[in-house]
Amino acid sequence: AKARGRATYAIFEPQVATSAYANLVLEGQLGHAIEHGEFALLFQPQVRTRDGMPVGVEALIRWQHPERGLLAPDEFIALAEQHRLIVPIGAWVLREAARCARHWHQHGLDLTVAVNLSTLQFQAPGFVDSIDRLLKETGLPTGWLELELTERMLMDDVPAVRERLLQLRALGVKLSVDDFGTGYSSLAHLKELPIDKMKIDRSFVRELPGQRQATAIARAIIQLASGLGLGVVAEGVETDAQRRFLAEAGCEQLQGLGISPPLTAPHLESWVRSRRS
Ligand code: C2E
Ligand code: CA
Ligand code: CA
Ligand code: CA
Repeated sequence: AKARGRATYAIFEPQVATSAYANLVLEGQLGHAIEHGEFALLFQPQVRTRDGMPVGVEALIRWQHPERGLLAPDEFIALAEQHRLIVPIGAWVLREAARCARHWHQHGLDLTVAVNLSTLQFQAPGFVDSIDRLLKETGLPTGWLELELTERMLMDDVPAVRERLLQLRALGVKLSVDDFGTGYSSLAHLKELPIDKMKIDRSFVRELPGQRQATAIARAIIQLASGLGLGVVAEGVETDAQRRFLAEAGCEQLQGLGISPPLTAPHLESWVRSRRS
């Protein structure tokens, strides 16, 4: 009996067992995190390359976990997606981001606020209506909410996606393609979609200006955006050399630790004011 017991144990990887259990616990806690007020948004500035003026922010979620401290999205978004909890969590993010944006507008700070979407959220029936309601409820002026979608979200069922994007755009929502260059966009399809902006993925920006391929790709994305009449923002800008390269290549906007890390709403507000005065 003892030998069999040991053999049974051997098929369990202790770490796997622990992390499956830990995930189960985390999932249960995730289900209550909204009502317990444990989520928070940070806002990372996006500036105009030409003069460094702040033009917008990207909202980034954090989970203030009661025992584990502040968790980054990498530690819980995938889990939330697996269990569809991303739909209510995403709705909370949108509400909170719109509320902050309206507050800034009422205080003279015109900043677009960009929100990351998950596939499940974007595809959920009633998503467009929920955005319509949100904009009416918060009274956020049109044109100041931006949604970030990945190439993967855009390229599956292009006609249906196009229809949905047109409805969103009719509400005055701006649409941006996140992590551009890492997915598999068909340029023919891209041209059919009502997109406003492309975000050059950090993996290319990181290699600038030294690495030949990344340099070529970054230049190509900037040219493509400009040829299609779209805005372009580089993410993950950390160094002066990257900033100079992107300015010279004609990249319109910059975002990254070299400009500012993600900030709480009050810090963001003072950061923007100090830049404008
Ligand atoms: P992302 O959309 O590509 O967001 C940019 C990530 O890069 C953020 O990480 C940001 O803090 C980080 N970052 C910004 N500047 C720099 C830099 O100069 N260098 C480096 N190394 N990193 C930089 P974060 O906040 O941990 O978010 C990770 C990902 O989680 C996001 O990637 C996004 O895909 C997802 N995410 C964040 N918030 C939400 C949300 O509300 N909903 C959904 N569905 N996903 C979210
Ligand atoms: Ca993003
Ligand atoms: Ca991104
Ligand atoms: Ca990225």
